[in-house]
Amino acid sequence: MGDAHYADVAIERGIDLSPTGLTYRVPGKLAGLAVGERVVVPLGRKKAHGYVIRLHADEPDYDPKKIKPIEQRAPGGVALPGGLVELARWIANYYVCPLGMVFGAMLPAAVTRGTGTKQKQLVKLSRESPDEPKLTKVQQRVLDAAKRHTNWLLIKDLADLAAVKTTGPVKTLIDKGLLESKIVDAVHSDLDLRAQADVQDVKHDQLSPGQRGALDALAHAADQFGVHVLHGVTGSGKTEVYLRLIEEVPEGLSTVVLVPEIALTPQTVGRFLARFGPDSVAVLHSGLTAAQRHAQWRRIERGETPIVVGARSAIFAPVKRLGLVIVDEEHDSSYKQDQLPRYHARDVAIKRAQMAGVPVLLGSATPSLESYANATSEPRPGFHYHSLPDRVPGMKLPTVEVVDLAEERKFRRGVHLLSRRLEQRLQQTLENTGQAMLLLNRRGYANYIACPDHRCGWMMTCQHCDATMVYHKDKKLPLGGVVRCHHCLAEQALPRVCPDSGHKVTTFGLGTQRVEEELIAKFDGLRLARMDSDTMRRAEDYRAILDRFRQGEIDVLLGTQMIAKGLDFPGVRLVGVISADTSLNMPDFRAAERTFQLISQVAGRSGRSEQVGRVVLQTFAPDSPAVALAAKHDYPSFAKMELLTRVEMGLPPVGRMVRIVLRDPDHVKALTRATELAHNLEHAKAALRLDVHLRGPFPCAIARVADHHRFEVQLLARSAAPLQRLMTELRNHGKLISDNRTAVDVDPVSLL
Ligand code: ADP
Ligand code: ZN
Repeated sequence: MGDAHYADVAIERGIDLSPTGLTYRVPGKLAGLAVGERVVVPLGRKKAHGYVIRLHADEPDYDPKKIKPIEQRAPGGVALPGGLVELARWIANYYVCPLGMVFGAMLPAAVTRGTGTKQKQLVKLSRESPDEPKLTKVQQRVLDAAKRHTNWLLIKDLADLAAVKTTGPVKTLIDKGLLESKIVDAVHSDLDLRAQADVQDVKHDQLSPGQRGALDALAHAADQFGVHVLHGVTGSGKTEVYLRLIEEVPEGLSTVVLVPEIALTPQTVGRFLARFGPDSVAVLHSGLTAAQRHAQWRRIERGETPIVVGARSAIFAPVKRLGLVIVDEEHDSSYKQDQLPRYHARDVAIKRAQMAGVPVLLGSATPSLESYANATSEPRPGFHYHSLPDRVPGMKLPTVEVVDLAEERKFRRGVHLLSRRLEQRLQQTLENTGQAMLLLNRRGYANYIACPDHRCGWMMTCQHCDATMVYHKDKKLPLGGVVRCHHCLAEQALPRVCPDSGHKVTTFGLGTQRVEEELIAKFDGLRLARMDSDTMRRAEDYRAILDRFRQGEIDVLLGTQMIAKGLDFPGVRLVGVISADTSLNMPDFRAAERTFQLISQVAGRSGRSEQVGRVVLQTFAPDSPAVALAAKHDYPSFAKMELLTRVEMGLPPVGRMVRIVLRDPDHVKALTRATELAHNLEHAKAALRLDVHLRGPFPCAIARVADHHRFEVQLLARSAAPLQRLMTELRNHGKLISDNRTAVDVDPVSLL
């Protein structure tokens, strides 16, 4: 761009100042400035960071002298590859987010802050060697070493190579001009991926017919964009397909592999590290320290690692030439970010692959209905469906027994979270030295604190939210526990008596802590570990427990959905689902889909060896399709049925949805803004003759959170285009702005 005089800059984390960026002059000292570079610019009387999104020589239609120059490149030299700039524009438009904020989300904060950056001095033999002055023996050794190694070396490394104990002689040679030196920025990180590469990697020579089929089909489509849905039951060898595909990616091109955050155990990452070696793989996830994340990002940026494995935001990995994108467990709701920019990493992955003209593979045992419908019923152009209907040879899907809790109640008095059948199966499993996993998707001890007197009817709710408080036992506290709101995290002591009637309070409802207590009481000497976000504060905790489970030091792993995903332990013979109903009763049109996914995923942890596994599924709704069909491992029937319901209701994936939530501490203000927005939408819709269905405003399912009243408006349409059109119209007129009071959620995955 030799003749570029101007640069359009998107201001980082600004509000929507201008969708096309602000124009600045490129001063002579910044020759070679490129699109994607992070810069410092004047903004009003202040300075701001921003990203160059366009370089041009277009004269503005106002006095060019008024255009201010860019101040400097941002320290640290951060630049995004061109492909990411294009992707950011798409995200800003599609997800209704200020462009600068999208850039802010693309780069880890550690990178822009330069966390862990240290200046290092490198040395090498001087090019114009002066006449060699008289040197000491030690200095001579250093010089000889420098002659043998012509590349840049750390001072310390050169001293080591010359077998001298201190760096003094090296420094003397720099002073004498025999060595030249330079200072560089390097990111120091203590992350050692070699340690994690230490998992057993068996490369199976005999691929199953399904694996072979999927690989062959993809081999023919490797150099073009296409969305390949890999629908493989749990244990069908999907990961092996990923690994083989990566092997086929041509030299010089990179693969990005997305994994749900929670599944980023050493187990998943380890398989990639073991197959390709720690030098070829970079990892990006929230378990890393800031410096580690920065160091990994730089490795990718420098093109050192052809493979990137990471959670949601790894879709923004700064790889220069993309060859393949893989999204594992593509149905997982953690791929959707619940704050600005509210992007869905799976959909961004599809877009990035499309822009790069490369294939994207979406793998799952329970594909999202979106992906399934796109690839099967009326396939959209570019979508392909590959199925692995069976587990790998020698491994069978587990036998599932459904326990009707309503029946169970008739036979037993008192509180029993474990049914007789589950107790019996657990006993058998332990006797046969098998291991078990028990799932309950709810933390704490009890989720209701109430007055025992029905005439009183008092129930403890959060003072700040429309939600009940959850009791968490904690023996370390004077009152033996605390009461917590899972929405705003407010905490209180457990009240002893009902404030209305003075009766001693009772607690009821389920929680992992309560299951833990019952297990300890019923199974003497049980080696049990509980895994939920209360016990797993750090990535190391998670790793440590999984290690002990693998080594057989733990018999039963009890946990929330944290244990449902991706884990592969051959010792697990039994999986118990304490309540299939926790997710089924959510006020969300995807409740059944979620339930089906969760049951299938956790059931899939059982029987991952020659021995057939068992699953005991406890529920009050044994006849609901999500439960009954998950028990039969019948995804196609479930999907067919659920899709019919969605057609009837006009809900995704049959159509598209946008949800806009307005919140305000003042109830009337929140409602007024929601009504105004609905009115504006209605008006624009009519003017543009768009086929969009408007719903609301109505209060959200949880109408008050953290002292904010919440109302929502929903937009539904057959396709994304009219929705986009409508929002762009409002946005251009300043009537739709994403901020902390207005949450625009395009393709929402949660309606809570
Ligand atoms: P998924 O990701 O579909 O749950 P995995 O890729 O984890 O399945 O495979 C399950 C197990 O089967 C792993 O232990 C893996 O090593 C093994 N496996 C994969 N492919 C084959 C094969 N072709 N033959 C035998 N075992 C296989
Ligand atoms: Zn609260």
